[in-house]
Amino acid sequence: MTLLIFECPRTHRVIDAGIQTDMDTLAVISSATLRLSCPHCCSIHELPVKSGRLSVTCIPKVLAEPETPKAPILAVAINALRIFWLQQGLTVAKRQADDQVLKRGG
Ligand SMILES: [Zn+2]
Repeated sequence: MTLLIFECPRTHRVIDAGIQTDMDTLAVISSATLRLSCPHCCSIHELPVKSGRLSVTCIPKVLAEPETPKAPILAVAINALRIFWLQQGLTVAKRQADDQVLKRGG
């Protein structure tokens, strides 16, 4: 998936349509027209989809596919939390066991 981009007819600068698509989808919607608010000349452009092109810059996979597994840093953080909770649970269990030993002993 890549970004669909257009060129501002006035400034000739690149307008990001905010649409992620591919060549096949672009071919299907090529007869449509998009109304885009241009960030460069601050006007509304009505641009035929076929005048747009796909950005050569690929979108990072993490952004393009939200259903992919969480970013590694998040997975690491979640695992650290799980380990912390496990340690907390073990500490509480050990304390309870010690208390019972003390009660029986004393
Ligand atoms: Zn413009």
